[in-house]
Amino acid sequence: MNPLQRLPLALALLAASCGGSELEVGQIPGQPDIILVTVDTLRADHLGCYGYFRETSPTLDALSEESLLFERCIAPMATTLPCHLSLFTGLWPHQHGYVANTGAVTTPYSPSSGRQPISAVLAREGYVTAAFVSGPTVTKPTGIHAGFDHFDEHPAKSARTFEDRSRPAADTVARAVEWLREEAPEGKPLFLWVHIWDPHEPNIPAPEHEVFQADAALDALLAEREVDIAELQELDAVQLRRLLDAGFAKRVPLESDSERMEVNVELVRDLYDRYDADVLATDEAVATLKEALHELGRWDDSVFCFTSDHGQSLGQHAWLEHGTITRENVHVPLIIRFPGDAIEQPRKISQTMSLVDVFPTMLARLNLGASSEFFSQAAGLDVLNPDFDRPFALSQRSVRPTRWGAELRFAISDDRYRWYHIPGGAEELYDLQSDPGELRDLAEEFPERCEAFREAMLSILEDRPFTLPEGSADDANRLFLEQLEAFGYTGTGD
Ligand SMILES: [Zn+2]
Repeated sequence: MNPLQRLPLALALLAASCGGSELEVGQIPGQPDIILVTVDTLRADHLGCYGYFRETSPTLDALSEESLLFERCIAPMATTLPCHLSLFTGLWPHQHGYVANTGAVTTPYSPSSGRQPISAVLAREGYVTAAFVSGPTVTKPTGIHAGFDHFDEHPAKSARTFEDRSRPAADTVARAVEWLREEAPEGKPLFLWVHIWDPHEPNIPAPEHEVFQADAALDALLAEREVDIAELQELDAVQLRRLLDAGFAKRVPLESDSERMEVNVELVRDLYDRYDADVLATDEAVATLKEALHELGRWDDSVFCFTSDHGQSLGQHAWLEHGTITRENVHVPLIIRFPGDAIEQPRKISQTMSLVDVFPTMLARLNLGASSEFFSQAAGLDVLNPDFDRPFALSQRSVRPTRWGAELRFAISDDRYRWYHIPGGAEELYDLQSDPGELRDLAEEFPERCEAFREAMLSILEDRPFTLPEGSADDANRLFLEQLEAFGYTGTGD
């Protein structure tokens, strides 16, 4: 074990400076615990520290004051498994091979050369690795447990209603805290991943979190977002029921047909109240975890990272759930707290970045041998490095061949614009500075800007695409690559 491990930070810094360690400037000595919380389906702009008008996140707001808050972190998809794999491998979805949740049904993810998860990398570094997950799309059958010594998931109940497929944040955190108290090995660094599901539909908050009530401020927000009731009425019956009728989600089996609902503004207001209640429940669970880590003496010197895999539409752009790649689906919160102000002064970072950059950014501040292995694999970059030279982030829509259709669609975000590549070669361009809701297409006015974004897209897509093994019955990535060729991509696959 590294002798600097477990020393208080100030002492460790002194020891490092006296002991001739090869620490680089701005690096944390030793092997700090790394605590990662990912929240499913949490859009950044429903947290107070990202400007939300309701008090959904007192714990995270306070945490952000002593952390780095990344204002423009973009998910590479709005689909759970691909995003988590991108976070864990530092690779874009087409590089790790999972561009839909369904890909893992027949071919679970398994680490291979160039596709190692951060859990396996840290385990080789001597870390104890433990995961506590809440939802069905990041369970063992997907292969995402690779590299974790301990993996705790919710056992799906046989009834399989929407509600039964997950467990509340409080339960998952309670399991994690119990493990920390009773089973976590002493004297070893820890990589802990806690996955929270509460903001994912169906939103069925506990009564104690139902504190938000629709008011004029909410109506103003719905108007600003141009939530259109008539457009929502066109959505399929299951989506309407699943998002707008909490009672349905509680009682009806997953595969049931459902009667089409009549959408009205009261139902949409209620969805916002319930979603925000689930964000509050998430915040409370983070507080519980933080307090337990404090009690156990594991908080002060740890690296803590809070993020989400993707957002949620909540009625914007004629959609209620996620999966599409409009900004509300891919703008995720990212808060990273490093121990001690000496490493990184708490501040806001406005640089556009992707979830693929999260671990490269964290590892660049740690003095771990395993970092070099991860850096050589990752497409993601250290966004705090002054030489960071990718001022944009790519998102792509899931190519799941059912329900959402198999259409390819991409978006590029930079600090000001979002550009879309749409099936058939159409393009859209939005100026987020004057049009954060992406409602006025400027593509025809700025063809050269569109061309630059198209080049940026291809520069990522042509880099190291990966194909799942032959014989995979549900190979979404192969479908994706075929479609990519159909619109002119000529990468050779190396
Ligand atoms: Zn998700």
